[in-house]
This record gives sequence, C-alpha cells and structure tokens, in this order.
Amino acid sequence: MSTSTEGAEPPRWLRPAVDPEVAAGLSGAFRDRFGRSPDGLWAAPGRVNLIGEHTDYNGGYALPLALPHRTYAAVRRRDDGRLRLASLQAREGWEGSVDSVAAGRPQGWAAYVAGVAHVLAERVGPGQVGLDVLVDGHVPLGAGLSSSAALSCSVAVALRDLVPGLVDLPVEELVAACVRAENEVAGAATGGMDQTVSLRAVDEHLLLLDARDFTVVPVAWTLPGHELLVVDTRAHHSLADGQYAARRTTCERAAAALGVGSLRELDPARLQDADVRRVLADVPDGMARVRHVVTENDRVLDLVGALREQDAARAGALMTASHASLRDDYEVSCRELDLAVDAALGAGALGARMTGGGFGGSAVALVARDEVGRVAQQVVSAFAAEGLAAPHVLEASPSRPAGRVVTDTPG
Ligand code: ADP
Ligand code: MG
Repeated sequence: MSTSTEGAEPPRWLRPAVDPEVAAGLSGAFRDRFGRSPDGLWAAPGRVNLIGEHTDYNGGYALPLALPHRTYAAVRRRDDGRLRLASLQAREGWEGSVDSVAAGRPQGWAAYVAGVAHVLAERVGPGQVGLDVLVDGHVPLGAGLSSSAALSCSVAVALRDLVPGLVDLPVEELVAACVRAENEVAGAATGGMDQTVSLRAVDEHLLLLDARDFTVVPVAWTLPGHELLVVDTRAHHSLADGQYAARRTTCERAAAALGVGSLRELDPARLQDADVRRVLADVPDGMARVRHVVTENDRVLDLVGALREQDAARAGALMTASHASLRDDYEVSCRELDLAVDAALGAGALGARMTGGGFGGSAVALVARDEVGRVAQQVVSAFAAEGLAAPHVLEASPSRPAGRVVTDTPG
C-alpha cells in the first residue's frame, strides 16, 4: 500500500447541515411546490454503530450513536387523508391516499414516509395523518449510516407533534411504527437499531442497546481528544441481502442445535466445550459464525468499560478485533472495507472496523483529534493507489435525537 499522499485528491468531507440554512431553503422550496407554508420543520439523525455487528438478530448488544448528519422534513398536515411527498434527493415524488398504502405501495423512497403514516393511521384513522412533505437528506444515502431510518423518523416525529391523538405516544411505540413502515411497506429487513438511535439518542452519548428487549442505556462519550472518523467507501456489493439472510439462518440453526433461545445465551467460555464443538460441527460454518456473535457481544460490554475508564487504546483494540472477527469468522467484509480499516490503522488510528451489515457501506475509526485530517488523507490515497473510487469521510460526534427544528427564520 502506498503511504504517499501525492497524486490523490484531498478527502471529500460530508459536513452536517446548518439548521437555519436548511430551514430557509426548505421552507421556500416547500411553498414553491405546495403553494403554502409548512407547519414546521423536523429532523432526524442517521447513526453509526461503534461496535456490536450482526448481534441484533441474536438478541445481543450493540453500541451505536446518532450522527450530527440529519434528514430534514418540512411538513404540513392535511385533513383529507392524502399524502403528497417529495424529496430534494429524488427525481420522482408520490401522491396518493393514506388508505392506498400497502406492502410495496408506493415503491421506492416514498414507502418510508407513506409507511409511517399508514402504520400510525391504525391509531388515529387515515383522515388524521394526511401530509404534504418535502425532504432534504444530509445523511449519505445507502452508506450504511441509516438514511432510511432518518427519513422515516423525521416524518414520525412531525406526525407525533402535529396530530393530537399522537402527542402522547411513547417513543418506543414511535420506534415500532418506523420499524413496521420499513419492514411491511418498504420491504426492508431492519431490526430496530436504526430507528431506536434516531428517536432515542442522547446528545454526547452512545446507546448501549440490548436487542433482547430494545432497552437502551446511554453511555457517555468520554474520550476527549479523540474523534470518530467515518469512511463511506461508496461500495455496494449485491450479495449483501442474500448473505445477510444466510447468516441469520445459520445463527438460528446453531441456536436451535445448541438448545438456546438465541446465541446471546451462550457463554463464550463454552466455545471450548467438546459437546458445543460437536454440535456446531454439524451446522455448516456454525463454529465460526457463532464465535463471532458471542465474542462480539463480549467486546461491546468491554468497550463500554473502556469508555468508562477513558481508555482509548483499549477501545480502539476492541474495534480492530471486531473487524477481524467480521472479516474472518463472519465473512461479511469486502476489499474496500478491509482497505479502509488497514489504511486507517496504518496511518495511526487507535482502532478501526467495518460498521453496518457489510459487503460495502462504511467503516469507522477511532483517531486522535489532531490526526483526523492526516488519517482521512491516507485512506483516500490508499483507495486511489488501488484504483478505487474515492471514499467520502465524515466526523461522527454523538448527537441528539429526532425532533422539531426551531430556528429564528420565519416559516
Ligand atoms: P441506509 O439506510 O444505510 O442509508 P438503505 O438502503 O436502508 O441505506 O436506505 C436508503 C434508501 O432510503 C434510499 O435508497 C432511498 O430510498 C431512501 N432515502 C433515504 N434518504 C432519502 C432522501 N433524503 N430522499 C429520498 N430517499 C431517501
Ligand atoms: Mg437503512
């Protein structure tokens, strides 16, 4: 790998949007499109998972944080049960009645918005949740940073604030509605981590998420002088969906063969037991997949401990160990993710790993603050040296949850 930075373009930094700037532009665009002012502006963050990958469907732990990058939705409530939906990131809008929304209808991006209205209509009736919506997303789309949950959650909080019958809806129910919108209307397999973070994040904290019951414990970000550098590799390998399903099936088979409800219940020490090894030998790839899941759960809890002790070196080592486990045992990494991780570590990151489901998407690295620019440049140079498209980079500081955007700009 080349360590020279010569010849490579400087990194392209994706910065969070500035609320008053978005507010001014989006309100005007909304009026141009719909002929009236919005009732208000709402925003919801994307997320990055620091550690705990492919653990959610095994009832395990994850440690995500909300990004400062958010998706904005200018929203006006309608009283006729109709939806008119548009996005600055999509050529096509969608218009139809809440009643017409169903599995696979509408198709494409509008499903994430219409799906939320459709699910919440079960509580208050379709006539209550008609909307005009104009979206402006500042979470990169399809980068594994959960632009989809940012989209659905931005509209969910708007509906909660605008519809009298929804104002008291507990946040857990709002999370569940957004998950159902993605699963049932958009047809996307999503476990609930993304929506939980977007709606329940705590500023300057990560969330220790227990996928068994979706309880969350805020964990303070305690590594002053360090930053989280996210690398969007911009790679998308089409085997992601099929491989995801295959991993889930293997885990379910292994749990059944071991006689546990989920792999969460298996103590890592038991991986050495002869009877466990014998059982897993009969499940194709069972041993390696199970080893990833149970050791990853332990790493999440260890990393929480490292944060409490302000031990950046240990936190970094756990991230790097997580990557090795995902690459070698779970086999969900890819060339671009490995390159991003190796280049970041080679440039002095304390730790780095792929984040999200794998086969493309993003990597996250723990970096001393004054090294961030240099590490980002080295990663970009490494991609250039391999003839790969330039990745994008962003800084991830743990940020606040979805909510109404209040600015001084007149609507
Ligand atoms: P991720 O959630 O990691 O970004 P997904 O594939 O789950 O990746 O979601 C990406 C999809 O979400 C996009 O293809 C699009 O359908 C939808 N989406 C997200 N943000 C926007 C936006 N601002 N405008 C239109 N569609 C969006
Ligand atoms: Mg998504």
